[in-house]
Amino acid sequence: MLDYDFHCHSNISDGTLTPTELVQRAAGRGVKVLALTDHDDVDGLSEARAAAEGLGMVFINGVEVSVTWRSHTLHIVGLGIDPDYPPLVEGLHAVRSGRGARAQKMSDELAKAGVGGVLAGAYHYANNPNMIGRTHFARYLVESGHCKDVKSVFNRYLVKGKPGYVPHQWASLGDAIGWIVGAGGVAVLAHPGRYMVGRHSMGKKTMQELLAEFVELGGQAVEVVTGSHTQEQYAEFARYAEQFNLLASCGSDFHGPNESYRDLGRLPDLPIICRPVWQSLGVQ
Ligand code: AMP
Ligand code: MN
Ligand code: MN
Ligand code: MN
Repeated sequence: MLDYDFHCHSNISDGTLTPTELVQRAAGRGVKVLALTDHDDVDGLSEARAAAEGLGMVFINGVEVSVTWRSHTLHIVGLGIDPDYPPLVEGLHAVRSGRGARAQKMSDELAKAGVGGVLAGAYHYANNPNMIGRTHFARYLVESGHCKDVKSVFNRYLVKGKPGYVPHQWASLGDAIGWIVGAGGVAVLAHPGRYMVGRHSMGKKTMQELLAEFVELGGQAVEVVTGSHTQEQYAEFARYAEQFNLLASCGSDFHGPNESYRDLGRLPDLPIICRPVWQSLGVQ
């Protein structure tokens, strides 16, 4: 069992706990080294760091950047970043800035599909309105009785090909890696197995092209153990990590109690062939 968790969300993005509550929960579950990786925003880091250090934990500054690569939306986690590095701050600001107009369009598209007037409800769930996203819509659609849980809202309304899905241009892969590496961090390809399931997913050849390009652009690690991988995918991405000479990361991708596949910490060990990402984060 690992005491490391390098991927989770607070209510600065689409988690439900405040940074302090998140850190307290992690500590209570035995996490010794924690990275907060909110989507496209670093505003929770100072509060989380203070809480973590107060509890004797090691805290790693993180972020999860939304990226458009070919026709795919990818997530790139940055670990060990300087959150004040100006190109990172400006880059994340630019990524966030499209979210308001996108949310309006999502609401319009849902209305056409017979689900009217959801914008205000979605914003009600967004503690940080600059970070309004699909999860906030999903929570509202559950509360208002349209679906039984968040997962069902995504499957019915919010994934590619469904009525409330609005295509969006996020950061480029090169920019995201550049901001992270420039900020002194390690760029990690998040939950790669997720890009290989579903109707619009990538095949093995495209995954290999992505990994090659990711390395070429300065990416250094890949998530092997994550809340969205199966046991088979731990092995599969451990092999990819070896093949592409990437470090391996592990994180729950926790968003909130009763909502995530995995709670904080208590993650299975990385496969033995992996070189753990914490070796390059100065953590033993
Ligand atoms: P956004 O950045 O607004 O596109 O929202 C992306 C977030 O939606 C992800 O970080 C997940 O938290 C959540 N999400 C994406 N796909 C799903 C899914 N199929 N089921 C549940 N949550 C999802
Ligand atoms: Mn999320
Ligand atoms: Mn993600
Ligand atoms: Mn995440």
